[in-house]
Amino acid sequence: MKGLSAKLLIMALATTLAALPVYADRKHGDVENIGNRSVSGRVFGIFPNFVSLEKEVELGAQIASEFEQTAKLVEDPVVTEYVDRVGQNIVKHSDAKVPFHIKVVDSDEVNAFAFPGGYFYVNKGLILAADNEAELAGVMAHEISHVTARHATMRMSKAQYLQIAAIPALFVGGYLAQMGIQNALGLGINLELMGITRESEREADQLGIQYLWNTGYDPNAFVSFFEKLQEQEKSKPGRLAGWFRTHPSTDDRIVASMNEQRYLSEKEYYIVNTSEFESVKARLQSIDNAQKSEDADLAKQQKRPTLKRRTEGGGGQDPGDTGDVDVEEDEPKKRPTLKRPGDPDSEP
Ligand code: ZN
Repeated sequence: MKGLSAKLLIMALATTLAALPVYADRKHGDVENIGNRSVSGRVFGIFPNFVSLEKEVELGAQIASEFEQTAKLVEDPVVTEYVDRVGQNIVKHSDAKVPFHIKVVDSDEVNAFAFPGGYFYVNKGLILAADNEAELAGVMAHEISHVTARHATMRMSKAQYLQIAAIPALFVGGYLAQMGIQNALGLGINLELMGITRESEREADQLGIQYLWNTGYDPNAFVSFFEKLQEQEKSKPGRLAGWFRTHPSTDDRIVASMNEQRYLSEKEYYIVNTSEFESVKARLQSIDNAQKSEDADLAKQQKRPTLKRRTEGGGGQDPGDTGDVDVEEDEPKKRPTLKRPGDPDSEP
């Protein structure tokens, strides 16, 4: 009973707080203090984050290692060093309180994502879709912001605060420790876990633009890239699905982002592109091409599959894509040859 009323009280409080114009001034308006301010805020505006920064890094490391067991990473040192350097430079000009681990994922999907605690993954597809370094940096700055604002653990904390009211205080400690880990791992990689809500997206947009600007990039690069992707998705849907799944797109986000830029003092010049971006992108493209033609060759060697493939619909333009799928699809068909005829346990 007590638990329930406490829960209602917290919920009522949260609703009231949400309705109040808490920030008379613009939230995170003190851009001159970037690096020395806390942007993670308080749960419901009052309570501290349940998860300590140390625990958050631990949690992120765990999720990252789970993720890397199945993910294919780009290992080319020139590409990875460059992407890491671009990212670390933004981190240095952000409000980050944790070190970042930046890696490149061998995925065509135009996307990037950061786990709590600074474990940050940039897809190959994003680098290839960006037209200049500022566009790549814009997306990276946005993702870095999810970490600096601690969106994932803030969201977890919110859920815990609501649940805590309903369970006896005695169990709270152990319960939380378990819930934290189990929730995070059990849910896998999803929006909830990464703390992605409409509100947190808007906050990451704002902080991301600030970090982009503070690093010396054209702060408009994020919005223009966003708009470009939106146009592309309209004309050729599918390839960018990942981006729009994890970055819910609304026009008001674009308007808010444009507004944010107006608050930032103008600089004499902005970095838009570098020759290094161009050469790294070209290098990654050629690695990608070589890999895809290798995959296609591999598919050809497995005679039957290639013949069958032709009749199947779907992205025929992309030889690499079909190559990848081929190998996986054919695995079960090869299984029967593994049967040992003399085995007494084999099916009659
Ligand atoms: Zn986001």
